[in-house]
Amino acid sequence: MLGAIVGDIVGSRFEFDNHRSKEFDLFGEGCFATDDSIMTLAVAKALMETRRTLGPEDDFCRLLGDLTVQYMQDIGRNYPNCGYGGSFYHWVFSDDPKPYNSYGNGAAMRISPVGFIAKSMDEAVRLSEIVTAVTHNHPEGIKGAEATTVAIYLARHGASQSEIGERVSREYYPLDFNIDAIRPTYRFNETCQDTVPQAIQCFLEAESFEDAIRIAVSLGGDSDTIAAITGAISEAYFGVPEWIRQEALSYLDPRLREIYDAWEAWSK
Ligand SMILES: [Mg+2]
Repeated sequence: MLGAIVGDIVGSRFEFDNHRSKEFDLFGEGCFATDDSIMTLAVAKALMETRRTLGPEDDFCRLLGDLTVQYMQDIGRNYPNCGYGGSFYHWVFSDDPKPYNSYGNGAAMRISPVGFIAKSMDEAVRLSEIVTAVTHNHPEGIKGAEATTVAIYLARHGASQSEIGERVSREYYPLDFNIDAIRPTYRFNETCQDTVPQAIQCFLEAESFEDAIRIAVSLGGDSDTIAAITGAISEAYFGVPEWIRQEALSYLDPRLREIYDAWEAWSK
């Protein structure tokens, strides 16, 4: 989850002012925690509270879905200007929130906590669908979140970059391109199908966590979200350097920092 937060904060100032190079300061004026970080933390909170409050009669899947809605709304309403798309904004403030068949990349940007706590690949896939389907129940939304979760799960369990790439290519998206080749013509896009494979490819070409974030920003487009997805997988594979962790966490306000600290203690 930390990797997604880092990617979001680093990418935030380039979302509408793309920087198509790997040369830049990771943190600086204009950086902030956007919807990608905030919804990721809401998903983390839902996972923690589901496990914590689970009674013997409770259906884990049902409770996780309900608490995902509850925390995305409860937390999300405090940040009306953090970058929500129009439909998601409506959903956050709705008294009767229903899935709206979205295939936006919000599905993938927020899913990383699932990949970090799943105890099996089956569980990773199942939990990913539950969390995603509360809003992004279009097949491409479910797929974007699942591909991200599977890549994180594989990275956590010793798969190599090429093994992860092969799995994603076989089951989700053909990764038959490289970032240098697509950069000149890549444009801002908020769908899963035109951001998730690109974000995964940024990870596959990286030599370190920091390199992955730099490649993701250099691609352009929806920079905070692409870097959040790339960062989530790269955290699982490379880990996050301590100085980057410290710097990124300084951008979280006390409410968000409390959720992050609880997660760090809980998921160890
Ligand atoms: Mg954002």
